[in-house]
Amino acid sequence: MSGTVYLVGAGPGAPDLLTLRAARLLERADIVFHDALVHPEVLALAARAEKIAVGKRSSAHSAAQKFINKRLADAARKHRVVVRLKGGDPMLFGRAHEEIDHLRGAGISCEVVPGVTAALAASAELRVSLTRRGAARSVTFVTPRVGKGEAESSWVRAVLHADTAAIYMGAGEAQAISRALIAAGKPSSTPVVVVENASLPDARRSHGTLGRLAEVAANGLGGPVLILLGEIYRDSAIIERWLSARSSSSPTALATPSGRVRSGS
Ligand code: SAH
Repeated sequence: MSGTVYLVGAGPGAPDLLTLRAARLLERADIVFHDALVHPEVLALAARAEKIAVGKRSSAHSAAQKFINKRLADAARKHRVVVRLKGGDPMLFGRAHEEIDHLRGAGISCEVVPGVTAALAASAELRVSLTRRGAARSVTFVTPRVGKGEAESSWVRAVLHADTAAIYMGAGEAQAISRALIAAGKPSSTPVVVVENASLPDARRSHGTLGRLAEVAANGLGGPVLILLGEIYRDSAIIERWLSARSSSSPTALATPSGRVRSGS
């Protein structure tokens, strides 16, 4: 009889944003296949497991994905508790579908443990709600990234029709994102915020407008970057000043070092 593969959300980066369920599973795990950006403190919970780094940052191509699928199935034939640990939540831009499909085809049982996705961690970082009564009643999670040979994505349409948008895996294409959205009719004055390393001590926030997105996204630290866009961010520069004042006046404030906070508008 084969074991179970658990697709587990590791959260956005900070180890204490892991769920209790995920922590308990890691303690029981025989083998863990993890993404590159998982925090070492999270991996340390899997004290007795063999730990294998899989998945390349940003562009795991399909051959690599097929190999991961196969390794998960093989591991489940040898072990009882197999954990596939993914950044954020496994069900959002994490190729969970391909892994679940493969395991189902191989007759292996599979469970999913949710995690805190980047958009939620970035919102916490900013102290700006993704929704607002009377102003923002819809949120869309999109990525402009499409794999080779895949159908055209509907991300532009989704961003046009939602009050607030969280754009994943977009930092390297900021200029193209800005051009595509403005060409489709989104005003270039639409407020944007770029959040890098959300939930981690070196989180970085930059504010600006869609027309200047490339500048707002520039000078990153090389960490994962989320782009947020919508009218609710119009006053986020005010909140930013409040956060910076707090971080310089209170050593205990949970805030980004003020030197990292920039304004792109
Ligand atoms: N499953 C993940 C997303 C995987 S796609 C989740 O639910 O969060 C990877 C993208 O997520 C990155 O390119 C970036 O856009 C975003 N991301 C992940 N962690 C992040 C973080 N700590 N801060 C900002 N963006 C992050």
